[in-house]
Amino acid sequence: MRLTNYFLPVLKESPSDAEIISHQLMMRAGMISQSSSGIYSWLPLGLKVLKKIENIVREEQDAAGVNEILMPTIQPADLWKESGRYEDYGKEMLRINDRQDREMLYGPTNEEQVTDIFRRSIKSYKELPQLLYHIQWKFRDELRPRFGVMRGREFLMKDAYSFDLDKQQSEISYNKFFVCYLKTFQRLELKAIPMSAETGPIGGDLSHEFIIISKTGESDIFFDNKLLEQENELLNVDYSKDLSSLVNSYKELYAVSDDKFNQDDFDKNVLKENQTKSKGIEVGHIFSFGTKYSEAMKANVLNNDGKQSTVFMGSYGIGISRLVGAIIESSNDEKGIVWPESVSPYDIGLINLKTKDDDISSISDDIYEKLSNSGLDVLYDDKNDNPGVKFSRMDLIGIPYQVIVGNKSKSESIIEVKNRKSGDLTEVKIENLTSFFQK
Ligand code: ATP
Ligand code: MG
Repeated sequence: MRLTNYFLPVLKESPSDAEIISHQLMMRAGMISQSSSGIYSWLPLGLKVLKKIENIVREEQDAAGVNEILMPTIQPADLWKESGRYEDYGKEMLRINDRQDREMLYGPTNEEQVTDIFRRSIKSYKELPQLLYHIQWKFRDELRPRFGVMRGREFLMKDAYSFDLDKQQSEISYNKFFVCYLKTFQRLELKAIPMSAETGPIGGDLSHEFIIISKTGESDIFFDNKLLEQENELLNVDYSKDLSSLVNSYKELYAVSDDKFNQDDFDKNVLKENQTKSKGIEVGHIFSFGTKYSEAMKANVLNNDGKQSTVFMGSYGIGISRLVGAIIESSNDEKGIVWPESVSPYDIGLINLKTKDDDISSISDDIYEKLSNSGLDVLYDDKNDNPGVKFSRMDLIGIPYQVIVGNKSKSESIIEVKNRKSGDLTEVKIENLTSFFQK
């Protein structure tokens, strides 16, 4: 992509309502444009990152054997009346009447809708388990939308749902998602800690929030800092195997958010020197809730004995649009964003420092073509700005590598490669450039 052909409305100053660094940087880097409170348009640079995150989440759901579907954003109120949540949900739900005066709503989540899909088609225990997910926009009329995309009103979520014959089977599904989440966040280069969360009336220990540590987070978190050392090779995880020991290695270490915190438990379970209190951002939440919806909505299957049996369900969310902000919160410096390679909008930012010099411009064009042809995604700054503007813009948008073409490229066939994170500069012969990036 040539910058002369790109819509990148960078700002010098961040808007005064942007309180936290990720919101400021997303505005300054021209990633989003506010439509109304808590509702944003995604501009090219922001959309690219959003899609990258979405794809990693999708690949990992697929790898865990979850089926992708796409449910509508608008749902009939009747389904929610069946589950009993239509009244309970209160003002966070955006309610709409259609022209026939039927009550509809903009989905804040999809338990009811997916239970309806399930009960229409699945009638036997032999067809279980069923694991379904979709990636769809949600609307919650949050009391205090803030922090940009981190607490929006309209936001993109991956939500998955599991249907199993009984509690024991549903725990197997739960563990699959638990491990799938560990792997997903690992690929996003985030340290997300699973923290035990409130399960409500169902009890048990089958609810976890995945939280990344951040001083701007909205959750107070309390955990054993041994969790920070937990490293597991998950690349080749086999989801058909028993995953409980892997899951238990996390569960047995104390980690909770404020709702569940209790000082006595903390002291009993964690050595004083390992006790960590901090703030965090909830990026995912998994939850096994048994027959809460299936009972109310009569989602039954015939069991082995030919009797009707109410299915056990779970739901599993990841805040995809929140993750864009959360990743920036955990990866930035005084110059701007520092994208992890896995989600960076481009692999390389190519800077032509002398657009008015025909030779240097033609060298830059060649490099752009070669790098692009070798499969790298390049943002090419071919704009007629002064070097200071070019450098600070490229630093702001945070692409991991910058390839800088200037006088030396003409006189000695040398370009400079700058590592955005470390700031290290390496001189590379132009002929060796593609192999430099081949890893
Ligand atoms: P929170 O406690 O932050 O309000 P929640 O517990 O209401 O979130 P869930 O219903 O568990 O959220 O939704 C699943 C995921 O969707 C959350 O873990 C979060 O990453 C994301 N999410 C929830 N609400 C918002 C929002 N208003 N804006 C952006 N992302 C959100
Ligand atoms: Mg939650």
